[in-house]
Amino acid sequence: MSFDDKIAEQVKRIPRSGIRDFFELVLGRDDVISLGVGEPDFASPWHIREAAIYSLEKGETSYTSNLGLEKLRKSISLYVREQFEVDYDPLKEVLVTVGVSEALDLACRALLNPGDEVVYHEPCYVSYDPSIALAHGVPVAVSTRPEDNFEVKAEEIEKKLNSKSKILILNFPTNPTGAVMTKKELHDIADLCISRDLIVITDEIYSELVYEDDYKHVSIASLPEMKSRSILLHGFSKAYAMTGFRLGYSCAPPEITEAMMKIHQYSMLCAPITSQVAAIEALENGSKAVEKMRLEYMSRRDYMVNQFNEMGLSCHLPGGAFYAFPDIRETGLSSKDFATGLLNSENVAAVPGDAFGVSGEGFLRCCYATDINLIKSAMNGFVRFVESIK
Ligand code: PLP
Repeated sequence: MSFDDKIAEQVKRIPRSGIRDFFELVLGRDDVISLGVGEPDFASPWHIREAAIYSLEKGETSYTSNLGLEKLRKSISLYVREQFEVDYDPLKEVLVTVGVSEALDLACRALLNPGDEVVYHEPCYVSYDPSIALAHGVPVAVSTRPEDNFEVKAEEIEKKLNSKSKILILNFPTNPTGAVMTKKELHDIADLCISRDLIVITDEIYSELVYEDDYKHVSIASLPEMKSRSILLHGFSKAYAMTGFRLGYSCAPPEITEAMMKIHQYSMLCAPITSQVAAIEALENGSKAVEKMRLEYMSRRDYMVNQFNEMGLSCHLPGGAFYAFPDIRETGLSSKDFATGLLNSENVAAVPGDAFGVSGEGFLRCCYATDINLIKSAMNGFVRFVESIK
């Protein structure tokens, strides 16, 4: 049977994730050091796992409210007030989702009509473009550059706007560049969103993982007049090392939360109760574990970035997340050829930058949420490979 006319057009049009394509080459090879997967090498803190186990022992195996457990939504609301300085009503403005991945999909589907345009900064997380396209929207990328530390400027966004522009997606700290934004720059973007009547989806999944002493994460949703036009997405995967729990949330005005919840109730019904119970424990008692992991990532970041610069691969210092994004253009190789050569000759896997959009070409994403001894061996492999292609 031919499936060509069976698969939906918008699905046929989206590519498979470049990360996945590359990592199929690595599958089944246990001799490879991988800097490729964007997840913590730590297991979730023990007290969080214990809360999940205890919940199962008590027989808490039911559905929850579509919005999520009320106790969790209240904890989220408190946490968001402290961390982001924005107040959300836990009964009407918080929706618990299956990771930020689901929340992003819901936000796009709740807001987009066919042909609506969504602007986002690139290189970016692999899901933005397909999530927009699957919701029948039109993805519009704004390139960011190492000279600007991969920050996005309001004037660059403005150049991409027209009467069809509806949403701006922001992600700071950024996957894959580790970029962070100052309050002043966010103010400029907020002014633009207000004057051009844009909704902002702000993916702040790495907000706890920032490293410079004089830097404090600021959410665009906390700026004047921005709460009513923002959808703040956050989750437990990165800071709490809870990727497998698949838990995230959105905070948004009641009308948007209601629209997202309608899709969620028919597609997902609710997030898993065990994960929701674990998330309450994470929010109530997880801050020490997060801080310990953050400090560890910071020393790995410093080591890795220093190594790249010493071997002649220029690498800006990422202010957050857990990725280094070295520039390999001087070598004359494409991202894919560099990554493939490195894998074949040194058994080290890093993600070609073009997996994160065309403006990622010429770079590699290297995740430093990886054991320091493995990072050290990987860096030796990089040095040998760079020497070998000179
Ligand atoms: N947003 C960004 C920027 C990410 O990097 C990731 C995962 O890598 C996600 C969202 C997905 O997170 P979750 O595990 O909560 O679905």
